[in-house]
Formats: sequence, structure tokens, C-alpha cells
Amino acid sequence: MIQIEHLHKSFGDLDVLEDVSLNIHEGETLAIIGQSGSGKSVLMKHIVGLLSPDRGRVLVDDVDICSVPYERLREVRKHFGVLFQGGALFDSMTSEENVAFPLEYFSSRSPAEIKARVAECLELVRMPDVGPKKPAELSGGMRKRVALARAIALEPKYILYDEPTSGLDPKTSNTIDELIQQLAEEMNVTSVVVTHDMHSVFNIADRAAFLYGKSLHWVGPIDAIHNRDDPVLDSFVTASEY
Ligand code: ADP
Ligand code: MG
Repeated sequence: MIQIEHLHKSFGDLDVLEDVSLNIHEGETLAIIGQSGSGKSVLMKHIVGLLSPDRGRVLVDDVDICSVPYERLREVRKHFGVLFQGGALFDSMTSEENVAFPLEYFSSRSPAEIKARVAECLELVRMPDVGPKKPAELSGGMRKRVALARAIALEPKYILYDEPTSGLDPKTSNTIDELIQQLAEEMNVTSVVVTHDMHSVFNIADRAAFLYGKSLHWVGPIDAIHNRDDPVLDSFVTASEY
């Protein structure tokens, strides 16, 4: 379980998050929604210790990741797969090498075991044949899937997705949504999806957390979004649907 408690974050004079508290439950898919610039990516980066709060704390399975020594943070990070905005693959490496990277860096598997796991992950994202190809030879959707294969290589307990469908056409977005759902079910992972794509939210999420005006304005189950009586949430969702 992930517990975000009274988190405050500023960059210089810019206050981005004020007193954000949120629990993310085991096995759920939680969407973090909000307008561009509302602090979604900043919040996500706190969950994996890439940013530290000015005040407040983040607990991952009861470990306060804001105050542990780096070695311990590294241990906690092994439980996370992160799909960064844009994918962030290594351009000079083949797809296989990209997926193998975390296994070589973070696990003690033998070369044969790594090769088998890489094949398994590429199979899971339904791209068994792209191993020898470099990112430049792949479409945007395919690159996302290779990045996803890399994110799941270490069998994470948590997967964080930053705008996984942005810049993709509707059909490719649906494929990514299906994969997110499939991984949640088959690997029983807890997923946090940062997005402003409400179509995707309705497809995949169990709950949504809506950032607005530096704070967490609304948190609730997806069904409740349909019956929303909050005017600010309503205008965000309505604007996103067109
Ligand atoms: P989004 O909801 O679009 O993901 P972000 O979380 O990326 O928004 O950013 C929220 C605000 O914080 C933006 O105004 C952004 O410019 C600012 N910001 C994000 N990261 C940094 C940083 N490392 N340094 C300074 N400002 C930042
Ligand atoms: Mg962002």
C-alpha cells in the first residue's frame, strides 16, 4: 500500500502541491487526473522517490521513502515499474537490450535467464518479434509497448504510468489501455495512471484522484464520476470528453 500524507511541494516561488493526502490500495488501478500543469507528474515522481516533498511523507509498504538511506530506497524502487512520459528508451540499444537493462542492473539472473525473461516480457506486450529492432525503427505505440516490457521486467508490485496514451491514435490508445488492464489482472499489480485522457480513465481505472488548484480536489470511484455533483470536476470531465 502507498500512503501519501500531507505532501507539500514547491519549486522556488511556485507552489505546486499543497497538503495532498492519498492512499493507494493493493491491486487497484488509480487514475491521477487534472489539467496540464496541475502537478500530476510531480505527484507521481514523489511516489517513487524521484522528488522529495518539502513537507509531508510518502510511505510504501510502511517504509517512509523520504527519510530512508539511499540503499533502502533502491530496494523499494525494485518493486516499481515506471513508464515515463515519452517512453524514454535508450536509442542506441535494441528493444531486447532495453528490456534486459533493468534485469542486468538490478537482478542477479544469469544471461540465459535474462534472455528468457526478455522474451516473456515482449510476449506479454504482444511484440514478440521486435527484439532486434532499435527504437527509431518502431512506431510510437510500439515504443510505448517496449517501454512497458522494460517496466515489467523485474515483476514489479506497482506500475506507474505517466500519460501512457498521449500522442497515440485512438486504436493504439485502446491497445495500451487493454495492456494496462491485462497486466493489472495477470500480474496482480497496483497501477497508478497519470492521464488527462478521460476515455482511458473510464476504460481502466477503479478510482480517480483529481488534482485542482494545488490540492486533491476530489477522490472517488469511477462510477461516482458519472454522477458527479461537484461543479469543478464536472467542468473538467465535460471539457475532456470533447
Ligand atoms: P502535469 O499535471 O501536467 O503533469 P507537472 O506535475 O509536470 O504537471 O508540473 C506541475 C507544475 O510544476 C508546472 O507548473 C511545472 O512547470 C512545474 N514543475 C514541474 N517540475 C518542475 C521542476 N523540476 N522544476 C521547476 N518546476 C517544475
Ligand atoms: Mg505530466
